[in-house]
Amino acid sequence: MYQITLIPGDGIGPEVTASAKALIEAALEKHQSPKIAWDIQNAGQTAETILPDVLLNSLEKNKIALKGPITTPIGKGFKSINVQLRQKYGLYANVRPVKKIIEGRYDENIDFVIFRENTEGLYAGVERVDSPDRIIAEKITTRQASERIGRAAFDYAHKLGLNKVTVVHKANILKQCDGLFLESVTKVSKDYPDIDLEAVIVDNMAMQLVMTPSKYQVIVTTNLYGDILSDLSAGLVGGLGLVPGANLNDDMAVFEPVHGSAPDIAGQDLANPTACILSGVMLLEHLGEIEAAHSLYQAVVDTLNTPSKRTKDLGGTLGTKAYTEAILESL
Ligand code: NAD
Repeated sequence: MYQITLIPGDGIGPEVTASAKALIEAALEKHQSPKIAWDIQNAGQTAETILPDVLLNSLEKNKIALKGPITTPIGKGFKSINVQLRQKYGLYANVRPVKKIIEGRYDENIDFVIFRENTEGLYAGVERVDSPDRIIAEKITTRQASERIGRAAFDYAHKLGLNKVTVVHKANILKQCDGLFLESVTKVSKDYPDIDLEAVIVDNMAMQLVMTPSKYQVIVTTNLYGDILSDLSAGLVGGLGLVPGANLNDDMAVFEPVHGSAPDIAGQDLANPTACILSGVMLLEHLGEIEAAHSLYQAVVDTLNTPSKRTKDLGGTLGTKAYTEAILESL
Protein backbone atom coordinates (compact mmCIF):
# COMPACT_ATOMS: atom_id res chain seq x y z
CA MET A 1 0.00 0.00 0.00
CA TYR A 2 1.41 3.40 -0.97
CA GLN A 3 0.95 6.28 1.49
CA ILE A 4 0.47 9.55 -0.37
CA THR A 5 -0.53 13.00 0.81
CA LEU A 6 -3.36 14.57 -1.18
CA ILE A 7 -3.77 18.35 -0.98
CA PRO A 8 -6.97 19.20 -2.89
CA GLY A 9 -6.30 22.96 -2.71
CA ASP A 10 -9.06 25.42 -3.53
CA GLY A 11 -10.83 26.91 -6.57
CA ILE A 12 -10.82 24.14 -9.19
CA GLY A 13 -8.30 22.17 -7.09
CA PRO A 14 -10.82 19.78 -5.47
CA GLU A 15 -12.41 19.05 -8.87
CA VAL A 16 -9.18 18.30 -10.75
CA THR A 17 -7.58 16.32 -7.90
CA ALA A 18 -10.74 14.20 -7.51
CA SER A 19 -10.51 13.35 -11.21
CA ALA A 20 -6.79 12.53 -11.02
CA LYS A 21 -7.23 10.48 -7.83
CA ALA A 22 -9.97 8.30 -9.38
CA LEU A 23 -7.91 7.67 -12.52
CA ILE A 24 -4.65 6.96 -10.67
CA GLU A 25 -6.52 4.39 -8.57
CA ALA A 26 -8.09 2.83 -11.67
CA ALA A 27 -4.73 2.62 -13.48
CA LEU A 28 -3.12 0.89 -10.49
CA GLU A 29 -6.03 -1.51 -10.22
CA LYS A 30 -5.82 -2.38 -13.93
CA HIS A 31 -2.25 -3.58 -13.41
CA GLN A 32 -2.94 -5.28 -10.05
CA SER A 33 -0.52 -2.86 -8.40
CA PRO A 34 -0.67 -1.86 -4.73
CA LYS A 35 -3.42 0.57 -3.77
CA ILE A 36 -2.91 4.07 -2.39
CA ALA A 37 -3.87 5.19 1.11
CA TRP A 38 -4.44 8.92 0.56
CA ASP A 39 -3.92 11.25 3.47
CA ILE A 40 -6.13 14.20 2.56
CA GLN A 41 -4.88 17.53 3.92
CA ASN A 42 -6.18 21.05 3.44
CA ALA A 43 -4.18 24.26 3.23
CA GLY A 44 -4.89 27.94 2.58
CA GLN A 45 -8.43 29.27 2.68
CA THR A 46 -9.91 25.78 3.15
CA ALA A 47 -7.87 24.99 6.29
CA GLU A 48 -8.07 26.17 9.90
CA THR A 49 -4.57 27.60 9.60
CA ILE A 50 -2.92 28.53 6.34
CA LEU A 51 -0.32 25.77 6.44
CA PRO A 52 -1.31 23.30 9.17
CA ASP A 53 1.31 21.22 11.02
CA VAL A 54 -0.69 18.09 10.31
CA LEU A 55 -0.16 18.68 6.56
CA LEU A 56 3.57 19.24 7.06
CA ASN A 57 3.80 16.07 9.19
CA SER A 58 2.01 14.09 6.51
CA LEU A 59 4.38 15.35 3.80
CA GLU A 60 7.44 14.67 5.94
CA LYS A 61 6.24 11.12 6.59
CA ASN A 62 5.04 10.22 3.08
CA LYS A 63 7.57 12.24 1.03
CA ILE A 64 5.17 12.23 -1.89
CA ALA A 65 2.06 14.29 -2.61
CA LEU A 66 -0.48 15.15 -5.25
CA LYS A 67 -1.45 18.78 -4.88
CA GLY A 68 -4.17 20.97 -6.36
CA PRO A 69 -3.66 24.71 -6.84
CA ILE A 70 -4.04 27.07 -3.89
CA THR A 71 -5.16 30.70 -4.18
CA THR A 72 -2.71 33.39 -3.08
CA PRO A 73 -4.04 36.84 -2.17
CA ILE A 74 -2.79 39.58 -4.51
CA GLY A 75 -0.92 42.60 -3.18
CA LYS A 76 -1.55 41.69 0.48
CA GLY A 77 -2.13 38.73 2.80
CA PHE A 78 -0.16 35.53 3.37
CA LYS A 79 2.84 34.41 1.36
CA SER A 80 2.00 31.82 -1.31
CA ILE A 81 1.61 28.38 0.26
CA ASN A 82 2.99 26.88 -2.91
CA VAL A 83 6.17 28.92 -2.59
CA GLN A 84 6.34 28.24 1.18
CA LEU A 85 6.24 24.47 0.63
CA ARG A 86 8.87 24.61 -2.12
CA GLN A 87 11.19 26.71 0.03
CA LYS A 88 10.61 24.87 3.32
CA TYR A 89 11.49 21.48 1.84
CA GLY A 90 14.04 22.72 -0.69
CA LEU A 91 11.97 21.31 -3.57
CA TYR A 92 14.49 22.87 -5.89
CA ALA A 93 13.45 21.50 -9.27
CA ASN A 94 10.10 22.48 -10.74
CA VAL A 95 9.87 20.12 -13.70
CA ARG A 96 7.22 20.97 -16.29
CA PRO A 97 6.92 18.81 -19.42
CA VAL A 98 5.32 20.61 -22.35
CA LYS A 99 4.14 18.23 -25.04
CA LYS A 100 1.79 18.58 -27.97
CA ILE A 101 -0.83 15.87 -27.52
CA ILE A 102 -3.67 17.40 -29.55
CA GLU A 103 -3.63 19.09 -32.92
CA GLY A 104 -3.48 22.84 -32.50
CA ARG A 105 -1.85 25.94 -33.88
CA TYR A 106 1.44 24.22 -34.59
CA ASP A 107 2.06 21.53 -37.22
CA GLU A 108 5.43 20.71 -35.77
CA ASN A 109 6.12 18.46 -32.82
CA ILE A 110 6.42 20.27 -29.49
CA ASP A 111 8.09 18.28 -26.75
CA PHE A 112 10.33 19.95 -24.21
CA VAL A 113 10.73 20.10 -20.44
CA ILE A 114 11.22 23.23 -18.38
CA PHE A 115 13.49 22.96 -15.32
CA ARG A 116 12.64 25.99 -13.21
CA GLU A 117 14.77 26.85 -10.17
CA ASN A 118 12.16 26.68 -7.44
CA THR A 119 13.61 28.03 -4.21
CA GLU A 120 15.12 31.47 -4.76
CA GLY A 121 15.32 34.27 -7.35
CA LEU A 122 12.63 36.93 -6.99
CA TYR A 123 10.38 34.35 -5.30
CA ALA A 124 12.52 34.58 -2.18
CA GLY A 125 9.81 37.15 -1.39
CA VAL A 126 12.19 39.58 0.29
CA GLU A 127 10.56 42.97 -0.15
CA ARG A 128 11.03 46.08 1.92
CA VAL A 129 9.51 49.50 2.06
CA ASP A 130 12.29 52.01 1.55
CA SER A 131 9.79 54.86 1.60
CA PRO A 132 6.05 54.93 0.80
CA ASP A 133 6.96 55.58 -2.83
CA ARG A 134 9.89 53.22 -3.14
CA ILE A 135 9.77 49.46 -2.56
CA ILE A 136 12.77 47.21 -2.98
CA ALA A 137 12.55 43.50 -3.85
CA GLU A 138 15.61 41.30 -3.58
CA LYS A 139 16.47 38.72 -6.19
CA ILE A 140 18.56 36.01 -4.59
CA THR A 141 20.84 33.80 -6.65
CA THR A 142 23.27 31.30 -5.16
CA ARG A 143 25.92 29.26 -6.91
CA GLN A 144 24.73 26.13 -5.12
CA ALA A 145 21.07 26.39 -6.19
CA SER A 146 22.02 27.40 -9.74
CA GLU A 147 24.41 24.45 -10.17
CA ARG A 148 21.86 22.10 -8.60
CA ILE A 149 19.07 22.98 -11.07
CA GLY A 150 21.61 22.99 -13.92
CA ARG A 151 22.67 19.47 -12.99
CA ALA A 152 19.04 18.30 -12.74
CA ALA A 153 18.45 19.55 -16.30
CA PHE A 154 21.62 18.00 -17.71
CA ASP A 155 21.04 14.69 -15.90
CA TYR A 156 17.58 14.55 -17.41
CA ALA A 157 18.91 15.30 -20.92
CA HIS A 158 21.63 12.68 -20.46
CA LYS A 159 19.14 10.04 -19.26
CA LEU A 160 16.94 10.61 -22.30
CA GLY A 161 19.83 10.80 -24.78
CA LEU A 162 19.02 14.40 -25.72
CA ASN A 163 21.72 16.61 -27.20
CA LYS A 164 20.81 20.17 -26.20
CA VAL A 165 19.98 22.12 -23.05
CA THR A 166 18.91 25.76 -23.31
CA VAL A 167 19.70 28.06 -20.39
CA VAL A 168 17.48 31.14 -20.21
CA HIS A 169 18.71 34.27 -18.43
CA LYS A 170 18.87 38.07 -18.45
CA ALA A 171 22.57 38.42 -17.66
CA ASN A 172 22.91 41.39 -20.02
CA ILE A 173 20.95 43.49 -17.49
CA LEU A 174 21.16 41.55 -14.21
CA LYS A 175 24.85 41.03 -14.75
CA GLN A 176 25.57 39.66 -11.29
CA CYS A 177 22.47 37.64 -10.37
CA ASP A 178 21.75 36.14 -13.76
CA GLY A 179 25.47 36.25 -14.52
CA LEU A 180 26.03 33.83 -11.63
CA PHE A 181 23.15 31.62 -12.78
CA LEU A 182 24.54 31.46 -16.33
CA GLU A 183 28.10 30.87 -15.11
CA SER A 184 26.95 28.06 -12.79
CA VAL A 185 24.93 26.23 -15.46
CA THR A 186 27.80 26.66 -17.93
CA LYS A 187 30.19 25.11 -15.39
CA VAL A 188 27.87 22.11 -14.90
CA SER A 189 27.58 21.68 -18.69
CA LYS A 190 31.30 20.86 -18.91
CA ASP A 191 30.54 17.53 -17.21
CA TYR A 192 28.28 16.58 -20.14
CA PRO A 193 30.45 16.83 -23.27
CA ASP A 194 27.83 15.17 -25.49
CA ILE A 195 25.18 17.79 -24.70
CA ASP A 196 25.32 21.29 -26.18
CA LEU A 197 24.51 24.25 -23.99
CA GLU A 198 22.66 27.07 -25.71
CA ALA A 199 22.21 30.37 -23.84
CA VAL A 200 19.22 32.57 -24.72
CA ILE A 201 18.14 35.88 -23.18
CA VAL A 202 14.64 35.56 -21.71
CA ASP A 203 12.87 38.14 -23.91
CA ASN A 204 14.27 36.54 -27.04
CA MET A 205 13.28 33.14 -25.63
CA ALA A 206 9.65 34.21 -25.34
CA MET A 207 9.67 35.05 -29.06
CA GLN A 208 11.62 31.91 -30.04
CA LEU A 209 9.16 29.69 -28.18
CA VAL A 210 6.23 31.19 -30.04
CA MET A 211 7.98 31.10 -33.44
CA THR A 212 9.84 27.77 -33.33
CA PRO A 213 8.89 25.73 -30.26
CA SER A 214 10.06 22.44 -31.77
CA LYS A 215 13.70 23.60 -31.49
CA TYR A 216 13.74 23.00 -27.73
CA GLN A 217 14.34 19.86 -25.68
CA VAL A 218 15.29 20.95 -22.17
CA ILE A 219 15.06 24.50 -20.83
CA VAL A 220 16.67 25.49 -17.55
CA THR A 221 15.98 28.86 -16.00
CA THR A 222 15.40 30.92 -12.87
CA ASN A 223 12.24 30.96 -10.80
CA LEU A 224 10.32 33.89 -12.32
CA TYR A 225 11.32 33.31 -15.96
CA GLY A 226 10.44 29.62 -15.54
CA ASP A 227 7.01 30.49 -14.20
CA ILE A 228 6.23 32.88 -17.03
CA LEU A 229 7.66 30.70 -19.79
CA SER A 230 5.70 27.69 -18.55
CA ASP A 231 2.38 29.50 -18.90
CA LEU A 232 3.49 30.74 -22.33
CA SER A 233 4.44 27.18 -23.25
CA ALA A 234 1.10 25.85 -22.02
CA GLY A 235 -0.47 28.22 -24.54
CA LEU A 236 1.54 26.55 -27.33
CA VAL A 237 0.03 23.12 -26.72
CA GLY A 238 -3.61 23.94 -25.95
CA GLY A 239 -3.68 25.83 -22.68
CA LEU A 240 -3.17 25.64 -18.95
CA GLY A 241 -5.52 22.70 -18.61
CA LEU A 242 -2.91 20.43 -20.21
CA VAL A 243 0.48 20.96 -18.58
CA PRO A 244 1.55 18.97 -15.51
CA GLY A 245 4.42 19.51 -13.11
CA ALA A 246 6.51 18.17 -10.27
CA ASN A 247 8.38 19.88 -7.44
CA LEU A 248 11.34 17.68 -6.59
CA ASN A 249 14.32 17.32 -4.37
CA ASP A 250 16.34 14.23 -3.68
CA ASP A 251 13.83 12.70 -1.27
CA MET A 252 10.47 14.46 -1.65
CA ALA A 253 8.15 14.93 -4.62
CA VAL A 254 5.04 17.10 -4.86
CA PHE A 255 3.12 16.72 -8.12
CA GLU A 256 0.81 19.52 -9.23
CA PRO A 257 -0.54 21.07 -12.42
CA VAL A 258 1.05 24.26 -13.74
CA HIS A 259 -2.24 26.15 -13.57
CA GLY A 260 -3.67 28.04 -10.63
CA SER A 261 -6.99 27.81 -8.81
CA ALA A 262 -8.96 29.41 -11.71
CA PRO A 263 -11.61 31.08 -9.52
CA ASP A 264 -13.48 32.19 -12.67
CA ILE A 265 -14.57 28.60 -13.40
CA ALA A 266 -14.39 26.98 -9.95
CA GLY A 267 -17.22 24.74 -8.77
CA GLN A 268 -18.93 24.67 -12.18
CA ASP A 269 -17.66 21.33 -13.57
CA LEU A 270 -15.77 23.37 -16.20
CA ALA A 271 -12.15 22.64 -15.27
CA ASN A 272 -9.99 20.56 -17.56
CA PRO A 273 -8.39 18.03 -15.20
CA THR A 274 -5.80 16.81 -17.77
CA ALA A 275 -2.89 18.77 -16.24
CA CYS A 276 -3.63 17.24 -12.85
CA ILE A 277 -4.13 13.76 -14.33
CA LEU A 278 -0.79 14.02 -16.17
CA SER A 279 0.79 15.13 -12.88
CA GLY A 280 -0.65 11.84 -11.63
CA VAL A 281 1.10 10.04 -14.50
CA MET A 282 4.38 11.61 -13.31
CA LEU A 283 3.54 10.46 -9.77
CA LEU A 284 2.99 6.89 -10.99
CA GLU A 285 6.34 6.98 -12.82
CA HIS A 286 7.97 8.25 -9.64
CA LEU A 287 6.50 5.26 -7.76
CA GLY A 288 7.96 2.96 -10.42
CA GLU A 289 4.46 2.03 -11.61
CA ILE A 290 5.51 2.39 -15.23
CA GLU A 291 2.77 0.24 -16.78
CA ALA A 292 0.01 2.04 -14.87
CA ALA A 293 1.57 5.39 -15.86
CA HIS A 294 1.70 4.34 -19.50
CA SER A 295 -1.91 3.09 -19.53
CA LEU A 296 -3.20 6.27 -17.93
CA TYR A 297 -1.20 8.47 -20.30
CA GLN A 298 -2.49 6.55 -23.31
CA ALA A 299 -6.09 6.75 -22.08
CA VAL A 300 -5.74 10.53 -21.77
CA VAL A 301 -4.25 10.84 -25.26
CA ASP A 302 -6.92 8.59 -26.82
CA THR A 303 -9.71 10.54 -25.12
CA LEU A 304 -8.30 13.94 -26.06
CA ASN A 305 -7.91 12.88 -29.65
CA THR A 306 -11.63 12.26 -29.92
CA PRO A 307 -12.80 15.89 -30.28
CA SER A 308 -16.30 15.11 -28.95
CA LYS A 309 -14.72 13.94 -25.69
CA ARG A 310 -12.94 17.18 -24.86
CA THR A 311 -13.65 19.72 -22.16
CA LYS A 312 -14.94 23.21 -23.02
CA ASP A 313 -11.56 24.98 -22.84
CA LEU A 314 -10.51 22.77 -25.79
CA GLY A 315 -13.67 23.41 -27.79
CA GLY A 316 -15.49 20.30 -26.52
CA THR A 317 -18.67 19.94 -24.53
CA LEU A 318 -17.78 17.65 -21.63
CA GLY A 319 -17.67 18.74 -18.03
CA THR A 320 -14.86 17.69 -15.67
CA LYS A 321 -16.77 14.64 -14.44
CA ALA A 322 -17.94 13.37 -17.84
CA TYR A 323 -14.42 13.80 -19.25
CA THR A 324 -13.02 11.81 -16.34
CA GLU A 325 -15.58 9.05 -17.07
CA ALA A 326 -14.53 9.06 -20.74
CA ILE A 327 -10.89 8.49 -19.77
CA LEU A 328 -11.94 5.76 -17.35
CA GLU A 329 -13.74 3.99 -20.19
CA SER A 330 -10.67 3.97 -22.42
CA LEU A 331 -8.30 2.92 -19.62
P1 NAD B 1 -5.01 30.37 -13.31
O1 NAD B 1 -3.99 29.41 -13.85
O2 NAD B 1 -5.77 29.94 -12.13
O3 NAD B 1 -6.05 30.73 -14.48
C1 NAD B 1 -5.68 31.42 -15.67
C2 NAD B 1 -6.75 31.19 -16.76
O4 NAD B 1 -6.67 29.82 -17.21
C3 NAD B 1 -8.17 31.36 -16.22
O5 NAD B 1 -8.97 31.91 -17.24
C4 NAD B 1 -8.64 29.94 -15.93
O6 NAD B 1 -10.03 29.74 -16.03
C5 NAD B 1 -7.88 29.13 -17.00
N1 NAD B 1 -7.56 27.79 -16.49
C6 NAD B 1 -6.60 27.48 -15.59
N2 NAD B 1 -6.60 26.17 -15.35
C7 NAD B 1 -7.58 25.63 -16.10
C8 NAD B 1 -8.08 24.32 -16.27
N3 NAD B 1 -7.56 23.28 -15.61
N4 NAD B 1 -9.12 24.13 -17.11
C9 NAD B 1 -9.66 25.14 -17.78
N5 NAD B 1 -9.22 26.42 -17.68
C10 NAD B 1 -8.19 26.66 -16.84
O7 NAD B 1 -4.23 31.73 -13.05
P2 NAD B 1 -4.69 33.03 -12.23
O8 NAD B 1 -6.12 33.30 -12.50
O9 NAD B 1 -3.67 34.03 -12.55
O10 NAD B 1 -4.50 32.61 -10.70
C11 NAD B 1 -5.57 32.25 -9.85
C12 NAD B 1 -5.01 31.91 -8.47
O11 NAD B 1 -4.22 30.72 -8.56
C13 NAD B 1 -4.11 32.99 -7.87
O12 NAD B 1 -4.44 33.12 -6.50
C14 NAD B 1 -2.70 32.42 -8.02
O13 NAD B 1 -1.85 32.87 -7.01
C15 NAD B 1 -2.98 30.93 -7.85
N6 NAD B 1 -1.96 30.06 -8.46
C16 NAD B 1 -1.65 28.95 -7.76
C17 NAD B 1 -0.75 28.05 -8.30
C18 NAD B 1 -0.42 26.82 -7.50
O14 NAD B 1 -1.15 26.48 -6.57
N7 NAD B 1 0.63 26.11 -7.81
C19 NAD B 1 -0.18 28.28 -9.55
C20 NAD B 1 -0.56 29.42 -10.26
C21 NAD B 1 -1.46 30.32 -9.71
